[in-house]
Formats: sequence, C-alpha cells, structure tokens
Amino acid sequence: MNTLQDFPTHDIAIAANVHPSRRLGTIDARKHTLYDVMMNTGLDDFSMAERWAIFHDWQQSMLQYQIAHYQRVALNGCGTERMIMDPATQNVSAVINFASNDYLNMSCHPAVMNAAIEAIAQYGTGAGAACNASGQTKIKQELEREIADTFGYEKALVFSSGYATNTGVLSGLLRSNDVAIVDMLAHASIMDGVENRNKMLFRHNDMASLETVLRRASDRFANKIVVVDGVYSMDGDIANLPEIAALCKKYNALLMVDEAHAFGVIGKHGLGILDHFNMPADSIDILVGTLSKSVGSSGGFVAGSKELIHYLEFAARSYLFSTGPFVASCAAALASIKIIREDTARRQRLWNNIRAFRSMAIVTGFDMGRAETAIIPIILANHNKVLEVTRVMGNNGVLVNGIPYPVVSRKQTRIRMTITSEMTTAHIHQGFCCLTDAIDNYEMF
Ligand code: PMP
Repeated sequence: MNTLQDFPTHDIAIAANVHPSRRLGTIDARKHTLYDVMMNTGLDDFSMAERWAIFHDWQQSMLQYQIAHYQRVALNGCGTERMIMDPATQNVSAVINFASNDYLNMSCHPAVMNAAIEAIAQYGTGAGAACNASGQTKIKQELEREIADTFGYEKALVFSSGYATNTGVLSGLLRSNDVAIVDMLAHASIMDGVENRNKMLFRHNDMASLETVLRRASDRFANKIVVVDGVYSMDGDIANLPEIAALCKKYNALLMVDEAHAFGVIGKHGLGILDHFNMPADSIDILVGTLSKSVGSSGGFVAGSKELIHYLEFAARSYLFSTGPFVASCAAALASIKIIREDTARRQRLWNNIRAFRSMAIVTGFDMGRAETAIIPIILANHNKVLEVTRVMGNNGVLVNGIPYPVVSRKQTRIRMTITSEMTTAHIHQGFCCLTDAIDNYEMF
C-alpha cells in the first residue's frame, strides 16, 4: 500500500486522497516540511476537516520524533536561564536561552517590571475600547512622546504589536495608484501589509536591483514607498541605509524602515539604524518598530511627521479597529526605553558577548552568512540536521530556534541563535560548545 511518504512532496495532498483510516499516521515530519503540508495547493481539493486531519497527522509525527519545537512551553520569563517543558515528555528542564529577541534582557529588569505592575494598579488590565473610541490612555501617550523624541520625529503612534503596525501602516497608506518596493527578505508583517496592494520586490540589500525596480516603477505609480528592515530578522545583517535613502531621493520615493532588531543593538547610542549610520531622522519618512525585542515588552510603533501620524490614526485599520494596547506593556516600554537611552553598559555587555561568540564561530568555520548583529545564523543547509541539532541542543540545556524551510530557502536552513547582554562568559561558552557537539554528533551518524 502506498503511504504519503512514498510520494514526492508536492503530491502529498493527492496521495492523501485515500480513505482516512489508511491515510492517518503516514506523514513523516522529518521528510515533509510545514510548507509541503500547509502550503500544498493539493490541499485545496479537500474539505476543511480533511485538511485539518492531514495537518494533525504531520503534527503527531513531529511529536513522535521530538521535533515539535514550537510546542515547547516556558515556565518563567525570557531571561538567560529558562525553565522549559518538553511537549513530548512533559519534563521540565533549565536551559540557557539563545532563542530570545529581548537582546538587552529588559523584560526581567526590576524597574521595567515594577512600571508594568504600577500601571495595572492604576489602569486595570484592559483599555476597554479602541483608542479612537474611549481606549486612549495617558501612559500610551507618554510612551508615544518618548518614542518620537528618542528617534527625533514629530509624533509617534503605538499599536498592540509590531505585526499590527506593519500591516496597518502599509495597507492604510497604499492606494490603488501607489506601489510598495520591498526588499525580498523583509519581515512577513511587511509582506502581509502589501498583500493585495501594488508591490515590486528587489533583491536583498542589492542597490543595483533596487535602482532597476525604482526606474521601472517611476512613471507607472503616483507614489512609491521603499520598505526595508533595519536589521534582518533571520540574517542579522544591516540595511544599506545611506544608499537606499539616496536612491529614494533620486527617484522621489518615500522610505519606510522597520527598526525591530536594530533599536537597542546598533548605533553609537543604541538608537538603531539612523544612529548606526549617523544620519538625520528625515532620511527615513516612516520609521516603524516593535516594543517586543530590545525593549522587552510588547506593542509596535510608527514615527514620522504629525500629519502622517494623524492620518494613520484613521487609515491604519489594525489601530482603528483594535482595542488600545495593554497599559502594562506601554508602561514597561516607557520605563525600558528610558533605561536603554541611559544605561550604555548593557549594550557594551551585549557587544562583548556578540564578539566572544562570533570569534569562536569564525575559528570553527561556521557559515554565519552576512550576520553582523545579535542575531547569529548558523547555516546548515539541511532540513533534518536543523531539526535534530535544535532537538539535541535543547536536551543538552541550550535553547535555540531551528529555522526550517519555508521561513528561509532550503539552501539556507539554519540554527538561529541570539545573544543577549546578561549572558555570562560561561553561558556563551556553554552555548557554543553545545552547538559544536550537536553538529559533530549529527555528522558522525
Ligand atoms: N518586524 C520584524 C522585523 C520582526 O522581526 C517582527 C517580529 N518577529 C515584527 C516586525 C513583528 O513584531 P511583533 O512581534 O511585535 O508583532
């Protein structure tokens, strides 16, 4: 009898078109990626219940082989040492956390935590309505002022998440005669924001490609917005802002940059990409970012001219139709940004840790791609190896994210390790040794 794994991956759904009792238990999650199962257009031919059953089958296989990493559950905060419950065995173990974007460990900073607690004591736990209705709070407005001042813009607007910011800002700004010109490796929230809008992609951080696209778009659209990440979330490289900004000027395009992984990490004062290149705020027309990475809270923001922000208060549907952000998140973010601006020692410790880890990885000959920040990709270019190394490292006390296809291309599958400021030298060493051991062991068998 044929089983699903006997078929080429693109035939999964077609192969699954047998009686459910013969189908279930036949998808091997080590062979078939999420993409093979979830994005397979063959699934269109099935009822919803059948699609769920096929997916469930794949998910059960992940659990069986202990590669359902996404089901790991944390029992404490996202500091350097985390208590994690294994989904397959329910065992709880202590791990060193190389899988957090809280680069400055601000989510566990006592002053940040206290600010959140005090905000809850004053405001309670829910805003009760969208901001434009009756959900606006003073603490959110104080945070918006702090963000605008930090980056040197007239005004800022805070959303409930970075994802909601990007989708709301882009879909709200782009009309039928406008176009978004987007770096092909920009974050999914940017891609989702330009969905169903005119869009053109350019090759990652490739200025010749950007110029070609800008030239092609020139006479066809009323407005052009170039959209890039400041630091790329999977690669840890930095956008070539000086040249991108110059091309935008040359071709009369607006520029939008996502600061998510840049703020708190790069720049002389830790203020992100403008600070890194020592460029004025007016080089970027629309600055977006998240409060969930270095800031250690949750929420997203957009900063720019007062006219832009007033427009977005009504044009960004994810702002207009969503209840006001959690006050504890706003208060935590406000306290955190103030500390980030003053406490340069944290950023120093972060960079010492990044350099220590990188120098060991360079000596060992790991392929880290173009990485230059706190995000360290260890490119293994092998789906199963990524899953297995992630599993073994977790079992040996080091939490990392395996990044399989289709998050990155098949040739770019990787272990994504992130470095944080409060890691000790011992943590850095243990994380690195655990990585090399897991890779060596995989290669031996
Ligand atoms: N932009 C980038 C570049 C990101 O990496 C992320 C989060 N992964 C987001 C936006 C979304 O932010 P949030 O998690 O706050 O929704």
